[in-house]
Amino acid sequence: MAQAFDIAIRSGRLRGSADRQHVDVGIKDGRVAAIAPRLDGTAATEIDAGGNLVTESFVNPHLHLCKVWTLPMMEEEALRAYQGEGMGAALSSIELASKVKEKYAEGWIVENARRAVALAALHGTLHIRAFADVDSKARLEGVKALIRVRDEFRGIVDLQVVAFAQDGIMREPGAADLLQEAMALGADVVGGIPWIELTADDAAAHIRTCFDLAQSFGSDVSMLLDDAGDPSLRTLEMMAVEAIRRGWQGRALAHHCRAMSLYPTPYVQRLARLLNTAGVAVVTDPHTGPLHARVKELRAEGVRVCLGQDDISDAYYTFGRNNMLEVAFLAAHLLWMMTRQDVAALYDMITVEPARAINLAGFGLSVGAPAHLVVLDRPDEVEALRYHGPPAHVVSHGKPLDAAKMRAMVAAGAGLA
Ligand SMILES: [Zn+2]
Repeated sequence: MAQAFDIAIRSGRLRGSADRQHVDVGIKDGRVAAIAPRLDGTAATEIDAGGNLVTESFVNPHLHLCKVWTLPMMEEEALRAYQGEGMGAALSSIELASKVKEKYAEGWIVENARRAVALAALHGTLHIRAFADVDSKARLEGVKALIRVRDEFRGIVDLQVVAFAQDGIMREPGAADLLQEAMALGADVVGGIPWIELTADDAAAHIRTCFDLAQSFGSDVSMLLDDAGDPSLRTLEMMAVEAIRRGWQGRALAHHCRAMSLYPTPYVQRLARLLNTAGVAVVTDPHTGPLHARVKELRAEGVRVCLGQDDISDAYYTFGRNNMLEVAFLAAHLLWMMTRQDVAALYDMITVEPARAINLAGFGLSVGAPAHLVVLDRPDEVEALRYHGPPAHVVSHGKPLDAAKMRAMVAAGAGLA
């Protein structure tokens, strides 16, 4: 029976399907309504995929969105400290980077964030877990800015705003109260960084504070863990244990975990089992630091692993544009994941894996799912990573993206309008 669709994507290729095995995808009322070799019916918008890939849109589970484009505001010492000497000075880099927060104001953060989110939209990155620093210097300026940008982009790019205690909780007077205020203002996720506390007891108290708050707001937890070249750091294990103890399995997400690269292998294996019991996924961003989580081993043990953009031109990383294909392309080299199977895994790590990790309901390219899709101008994953250009078409919430509007926002943010 002929149907009337809002959008019909013709002659697309699904991931994993054979050459020339093309399908049509029909979209109606914000959802994928039909997938078949040939769909009868009309559509308000017809898109010819020309035999190229049609997949889920991209998900960025980790971005310091309040800091984007702040690198020109500071000297480059933090960059040198974070990346130098086997990450031995990562703690000082956080302290150096913290200086910029004395200038934090909602107004300019909103402008920078808009530019980054518009870039995300153009690259088909339609879901972002976005971190906003909360501490005595940043106060609530970053959180307020990201909540504003979240509300502005709702239905185009969906943001989860993380109230993030970047400078610690026990070592940062007032941080716990500010986190509470940030959640009450409307932040979506509680963010911690227990490894920067000065003692193991303080790290444990930091973790407990985050879970207390998350449970009182019914929210997820996202923590930056063990982000230095120190094999004695163990806050990933501590967070996983706390998630199990509180019945918060599947609600706590781990980021960075770079010290894992220095752990003895038997410990990594035990840790992987613990992460599976706790439903803790790991977000890694191997392009933003010289050490990284042990992706292949974790995956072999069944742990969910995702890739994040992490930073865009801030104290820790020079480049970035919310292009997850670019992030996957960089990861392919840094993780030595080059086979077709590896590249398919990397593609999962920027789509379906982070969608599950940040608890996006019903995400996927299947009938009945919310229509968040990209139509690429390449026929398979290897070619998609090779060129890592923006998709030919982006569909968010069942609607074609207004790319001209997004490009104008990017230009305005860059001072080019
Ligand atoms: Zn980060």
